[in-house]
Amino acid sequence: MDCVFCRIIAGELPSDILYQDDEVIAIRDINPQAPTHILIMSKAHIPSLAETTPPINRGGLLAHMCFVAIQLAKKEGVSETGYRLVINSGAEGGQEVPHLHLHLLGGRRLGKLG
Ligand code: AMP
Ligand code: ZN
Repeated sequence: MDCVFCRIIAGELPSDILYQDDEVIAIRDINPQAPTHILIMSKAHIPSLAETTPPINRGGLLAHMCFVAIQLAKKEGVSETGYRLVINSGAEGGQEVPHLHLHLLGGRRLGKLG
């Protein structure tokens, strides 16, 4: 298995797991860009956001990932101050790990996107 996130999910690589269920797992980013930087990733190996649309419809999974992020933002204490959810997709979108994941960033004033 050469996917780093699949290896984390399989327990082959260490990680700081904050939450998991049948569909998703949430860990702290190894290189945090904000005081709170959590990755909510699918347990299934889905290479990118682009692969969540029909014929395989992963809309429910995406909604669940957002829901988990919203709960974790509350738990982290950033819900009131504000936070950002980001999915990078593809090379020009800044995606480096080809396994679907949602970034939860908070705990500081974030800059404009781009
Ligand atoms: P992206 O650029 O959207 O693909 O995001 C990949 C993220 O995964 C980056 O923020 C990395 O810091 C993070 N990352 C890479 N390897 C690990 C790891 N072993 N544990 C936790 N986070 C990681
Ligand atoms: Zn994977």
